[in-house]
Amino acid sequence: MAVFLDDTTGQRASESAIYSIYILCYNGANNGENGVKNMDNQKLAELLFPNITSTPEDIEARYPRRELSEGAKVTRIAPSPTGFMHLGNLYGALVDERLAHQSGGVFYLRIEDTDKKREVEGGVKMIIDTFHSFGLSFDEGATLDGETGIYGPYRQSQRAEIYQTYVKSLVQRGLAYPCFCTEAELEAAHKEQEQKKENFGYYGPYAVWRDRPIEDIEAELKKGSPYVVRFRSEGNIENKVRHEDLVKGKMEVTENDQDIVLLKSDGIPTYHFAHVVDDHLMGTSIVVRGEEWLATLPVHLQLFRAMGWKAPKYAHTAQLMKLDPETGGKRKLSKRKDPELALSYYYKEGYSVPAVMEYLMTLLNSNFEEWRRANPDAPMNDFPFSTKKMSASGALFDIDKLNDVSKNVISHMTAEAVYDAVTKWSADNDPEFHALFTRNPEITKGYLAIGRGSKKPRKDLALWSDTKPYMDFMFDELFMPDYTMPERVSSEDAKAILAAFKPQFDENDSPDCFFEKIKGIAEQTGFASDTKAYKEHPEQYKGPVGDVSMVIRIAVAGRQNAPDLQSVMKLMGREKVQARLERCMAAL
Ligand code: GLU
Repeated sequence: MAVFLDDTTGQRASESAIYSIYILCYNGANNGENGVKNMDNQKLAELLFPNITSTPEDIEARYPRRELSEGAKVTRIAPSPTGFMHLGNLYGALVDERLAHQSGGVFYLRIEDTDKKREVEGGVKMIIDTFHSFGLSFDEGATLDGETGIYGPYRQSQRAEIYQTYVKSLVQRGLAYPCFCTEAELEAAHKEQEQKKENFGYYGPYAVWRDRPIEDIEAELKKGSPYVVRFRSEGNIENKVRHEDLVKGKMEVTENDQDIVLLKSDGIPTYHFAHVVDDHLMGTSIVVRGEEWLATLPVHLQLFRAMGWKAPKYAHTAQLMKLDPETGGKRKLSKRKDPELALSYYYKEGYSVPAVMEYLMTLLNSNFEEWRRANPDAPMNDFPFSTKKMSASGALFDIDKLNDVSKNVISHMTAEAVYDAVTKWSADNDPEFHALFTRNPEITKGYLAIGRGSKKPRKDLALWSDTKPYMDFMFDELFMPDYTMPERVSSEDAKAILAAFKPQFDENDSPDCFFEKIKGIAEQTGFASDTKAYKEHPEQYKGPVGDVSMVIRIAVAGRQNAPDLQSVMKLMGREKVQARLERCMAAL
């Protein structure tokens, strides 16, 4: 029969008698049996941790309860400094940041640097710089040259004494023990389990060091044999634990029966134990992490209960998926196949930070896009983010969608902001263009301002790198004209149009005055000055007035697509426009 445990209090929903036994176990497994065992536990704890003199109470005293207003959430990110920052890191961090800052809480950075093999030099700096570059700021935690906040150390490598103090107390309570199994022995057990079609792991009869007499342990210690410290699980896989996840909703998970490793042979904790200790002491109220951790959630819930601590709430975020361009099927983003998984990709390609963040928000909350349509100019952080609107099943990453979001975001920026961002980006990524782009800031900004600021702004730029093809014709050095004229316009007509326009051009003309001139040229050269008239009697004209302005656009910009012609010419100035008209006439 299944026995349900509430995941935060450890209270059994039924079978109170069994619950009492359970609590007895957690308060001192084996201790009740006889005093000798109890003495052994004390002795064992001293043997294993002779240098640990602090007690759990000492540690607790160093971590005061956080004084926060009601409802304020404490969240953290806990990346490992492996040198690779991926989109999933940012996706989760945005959830953390919003939950904390929306509620007046605290968002902090803890560095999980317990796995020295995976650590790379400069990994911590990379983490901090990357989050910073995406506009995420931490209220406390690890910094480049140390840390801020009173709940540290925020680097797990500096917390060995804390973990060991708690493990020592678990040993004293009979809830942890050393295990001297070698790799080969563990492998042999694995093989046996495979053969017998049993669950893998260290449990039941396979937990060979669980009840070994203290003499055996002492003998191994004397020999200097390496060992890990394992948790003594009282869990049973027949039992289910109820868990309500902020993203995944209500679920039942199987109780853990494995004697998992708490401390590795170098005295460094496993993720499981460090997570429980740190998130308790640091006062995390919501743990946001990838759904790959759901499998070991029963271990974490069990450890919180054993420690007598309230577990935080959990938000297990769904994996980022994409449609495989080859198979058309959904799959996880892969480090090897998908450059867009790496956060470094976005800056290099020229994505703007707010665009990436807005896109992540569209992935995170299904109602964000609707909100954005209703509030086109509001800062993203005004959006009421909620874990309830997060998809439990998987978020589909779509780069085309990102580009659309990006165009929209950039279209709402000021020309000044675009100028600054492109200046910075091009300095790092396209120095030649940078030199041209910044040569005359007023002209460049003037160009970027065309079609901006209206209700329906132009959406030409998705990436900062799009700025170059968007405005290259403005620079003589990059001007590579294509003088192909519209089909209806012969070279002779084009020449005649340009010849007529050249003496009339005045950059100070009002738009109306400019258009009157174009209409006059249309009449003069056999084109209809009025589009309606052309539509009614196309046989009477060479083409509509639009053909006339197109010829001028092609001469000035060297292509058919360019923003508002008159604004462009005004920015270019008389001399340059005249030169362009002449060059085109000569080429026709
Ligand atoms: N270091 C863990 C990871 O990168 C952190 C998981 C967590 O947030 O608890 O997956």
